[in-house]
Amino acid sequence: MSREPLRVLAATSNRGKLTELRSLLADLPIEVISLAEALPGAPPVVEDGETFLENALLKARAAALRSGWVTLAEDSGLEVDALGGRPGVRSARFAREGATDAENNAALLSALAEVPDERPRARFRCIMVLLDPRSEGQPVVTEGRCEGWICRQPRGAGGFGYDPLFVVEEFGRTMAELGEAEKNRVSHRGKATLAMRAALDALIARRREAGPPGGGG
Ligand code: IMP
Repeated sequence: MSREPLRVLAATSNRGKLTELRSLLADLPIEVISLAEALPGAPPVVEDGETFLENALLKARAAALRSGWVTLAEDSGLEVDALGGRPGVRSARFAREGATDAENNAALLSALAEVPDERPRARFRCIMVLLDPRSEGQPVVTEGRCEGWICRQPRGAGGFGYDPLFVVEEFGRTMAELGEAEKNRVSHRGKATLAMRAALDALIARRREAGPPGGGG
């Protein structure tokens, strides 16, 4: 029986996501390894999928193949109903390829300039994929959503991405105005991680039975 924490590669180069994933998994015997630590210099995955699921699978498969480690990947984004679901899978590059959060937030406000609704409905979605290279490539997939609306003036200093413009329905505050624990409880990423816990617990148990780490990470 191995009591070593399970090393899990978080297949993201987004620092905000990495921080949240580490906090969301903090109570499990898991050591979250970043892409920068596991695969320094690896080229970024081209996220050319049409859906969050396709992109999450692309990221998970590329990282698991290169590293041989258990990999957790997620693809997430913001869907605004009045914009026909945009920015959606293009959330990270809504303003342009390689855009900053500030540029994307400005692009979102300008896309909403002609929308009269004072509270345009929106949601964050997160599709999370767990890939264990020892389980013949079969991924476990979960989803989390967080409903709310877009405000026209950014509020709050926490979080990342569109957080200052996204008002969480449950709180009436933007995600950037929430504390870490509050955001984790209601966020799309928090819910997808919660739904992933049974699979993670089972994987930890299997690895403990299998003995000390060796091949296949
Ligand atoms: P991707 O999953 O790497 O394609 O990027 C997702 C993009 O969606 C991020 O760059 C953010 O712009 C946005 N996003 C995803 N999750 C959050 C969140 O929790 N808060 C704010 N923005 C988010």
